[in-house]
Amino acid sequence: MDNEHNEKLFESKKPDNKENGKLFADSRKSRPKEKPDTSAPSSGSWKVLLVDDEEDIHSVTRMALKGFTYKGKDIEFLHAYSGDETKQLLSKHKDIALIFLDVVMETNHAGLDLVKYIRDVMKNRFTQIVLRTGYPGQAPEREVIATYEINDYKTKTELTTFKLFTVTLASLRSYDSIMGLEHLRRNLELIVRERTAELESKNVKIMEMDQMKTRFFSNVSHEFRTPLTLIISPLEDLMVDRDLEANKKDQLEMMHRNALRLLGLVNQLLDLSKIDAGSMKLNITYYDLNKVLRLIARSFMTLAERRKVQYNLQIPDDVMNCYFDRDKVEKILLNLLSNAFKYTPEKGEITCSATYKTEKKAGSAQYLEMLVKDTGPGIPSEQLDKIFDRFYQVDDGWKKETSGTGIGLSLTRELTTLQHGEIRVESSPQKGSCFMVTLPVGKEHLQEHEYVITESEESGGQSMIIKCSLSDNRPDDVANTYEINGTGDRPVVLIVDDNQDIRNHIRESLNKDFNLTEACNGKEGIEKAVNIIPDLIVTDLMMPDTDGLELCKKLKTDERTSHVPIIMLTAKAEVDDKIEGLETGADDYITKPFNKKELIIRIKNLIEQRNKLREKYANQISLEPHQHAVKSVDEKFLEHARTIIEANIGDCNFDVNNFCAEMGMSRMQLFRKLKALLNQTPNELIRNLRLQRAVYLMRQNFGNVAEITFEVGFNNLSYFAKCFKEKYGLLPSEYQKQIG
Ligand code: ADP
Repeated sequence: MDNEHNEKLFESKKPDNKENGKLFADSRKSRPKEKPDTSAPSSGSWKVLLVDDEEDIHSVTRMALKGFTYKGKDIEFLHAYSGDETKQLLSKHKDIALIFLDVVMETNHAGLDLVKYIRDVMKNRFTQIVLRTGYPGQAPEREVIATYEINDYKTKTELTTFKLFTVTLASLRSYDSIMGLEHLRRNLELIVRERTAELESKNVKIMEMDQMKTRFFSNVSHEFRTPLTLIISPLEDLMVDRDLEANKKDQLEMMHRNALRLLGLVNQLLDLSKIDAGSMKLNITYYDLNKVLRLIARSFMTLAERRKVQYNLQIPDDVMNCYFDRDKVEKILLNLLSNAFKYTPEKGEITCSATYKTEKKAGSAQYLEMLVKDTGPGIPSEQLDKIFDRFYQVDDGWKKETSGTGIGLSLTRELTTLQHGEIRVESSPQKGSCFMVTLPVGKEHLQEHEYVITESEESGGQSMIIKCSLSDNRPDDVANTYEINGTGDRPVVLIVDDNQDIRNHIRESLNKDFNLTEACNGKEGIEKAVNIIPDLIVTDLMMPDTDGLELCKKLKTDERTSHVPIIMLTAKAEVDDKIEGLETGADDYITKPFNKKELIIRIKNLIEQRNKLREKYANQISLEPHQHAVKSVDEKFLEHARTIIEANIGDCNFDVNNFCAEMGMSRMQLFRKLKALLNQTPNELIRNLRLQRAVYLMRQNFGNVAEITFEVGFNNLSYFAKCFKEKYGLLPSEYQKQIG
């Protein structure tokens, strides 16, 4: 485009206007006969609206921008001659890119009013507006631009063809990039809206499912309680029978203890689901709070004596009648004390104290401060803030008889909060833990909808929740394990389980048929297995510290124990998760609860299988190495043994002691291993291999019997002959004759 030419085109109009000092003034009000069509929007053009009451300006601008294109699109002009016309066009065309706007039209500020209308009323921030005025400096540029949100300000004389070009180009470029961003923004907004809606609907579904789960939980827990109560009560009746045999009584006690434990857990789950559903209220009663605390705390005295724990009770003797939620206070103290007893080892110290403070706290005049302090293992500081989280259990490798559920403390905190109380803990590893609970007493601090008042009941003896809580701690010594040795030739079975009741149960099931030995955790299980080389191991899968899988892996890769069959006990839920691990390690698994007879049959089957394998190995062991490349740990062990004997075959001083030393095993380990694999003692194996070599040498015509005798490490001819006859049914000389 020839800009100079166009500039002249503009300038040619100037003389007319110079006369009255106004640019383009003369052409004002001269309306065109026909307005250009402004209605049809064309998507392939930039819409530029020319607003001016002088037709000349319209035609000059159109002419000047003739042939203009940007990004391959030309201009579609729209024309308006007044404010009203402009408004109509604006409402019809939402995609106007640029407006050249006259200031003075029907009023002196008509153009500026339109800017306000576009920006403030229509909220249109995208259309570019270039203001044109006849008077240079009619309004100070910056001020106008700032006040009216226009994009450029030009006097009419300034808008020569060249300038119109650049102004149009710059404005369309701005419009284009603003619209690009706007488009992006709208798309993003749309995506965000869609995602938010998606998340909201998912959230609603999750909440519904959660409520369903809570309801289900609560229903199921309820359903559990009835049958459990129907188990516990008749058991209690049976247990009082004085004529009961001791082992029957033990069994009943074990059933009772475990039924109570289950009931305790079910009750805890029920409480949690009530709290989740927001349906747990305070059930307050007017009663002697100290009496309740003393009852709970004293119920642990027998346990303390048995555990030789120094148990300090500091609960006031006087009567403290007030309103409080008895059930919740009991549960809080029971949880804390039962944890203290669960985690404090023998000869430790536990203190339980209660004091009353009268400072105003949580709207109540008086509050109770309970403290349970122990000298147990403590809790690592980085885990202190997590122990009140639901299902959280401290992972410190500390051996526990009862591994727990991680519910107790979270429930304790919920119950405390429900009563407007607080719970805190201070603990340092190896020194012990101190749990502190503060609870406002009375009902002044409670709003009416938070509680119901119930009649107080005198309670005689231990309530069910106390019994449930105490059932967590077995009466026996925590790590009490038994050895049962019947006759010497019965197979030895090692039982590894962290739960003593389960050990007892297995022991009672097996003691008629097997010699038994026990370990109360995986680590001890491994040590015992290596030391005694049992004929079979029954181990639990889930154990704190070293679990059944690890035990299996260790023993199966240790050549001293690799042959020992292992039966894994698993809860049904664990079977699927662990089946892969079991395939690589254990020889069999049994799901809990298991049937006594089934366990015995499985043990006998495995021992029988071992016997068959033993025959196979015994026939196979010879001085020729095995051909197959992949060897089990047991085959490698046998080959190792064979190589050692072969290397020493001519040495008549090579005996069991040298053999053990070279194998890196104790006499007992080597004896039990070879007995298990080959049913041969180490001595027998050495002798058999020597005799095998003798036969080989005879076939090779190595020499006479005496030479061969010494060559295979016998230093006594008649002993060699005796052994040879025992094994092959012929004397060496007869044998030689037969093959010769
Ligand atoms: P659970 O005892 O069933 O595992 P809790 O919620 O009662 O669950 O306790 C959570 C964890 O806090 C426990 O796993 C235990 O490691 C730790 N803990 C609680 N009380 C004590 C305590 N007195 N001494 C040491 N550790 C404790």
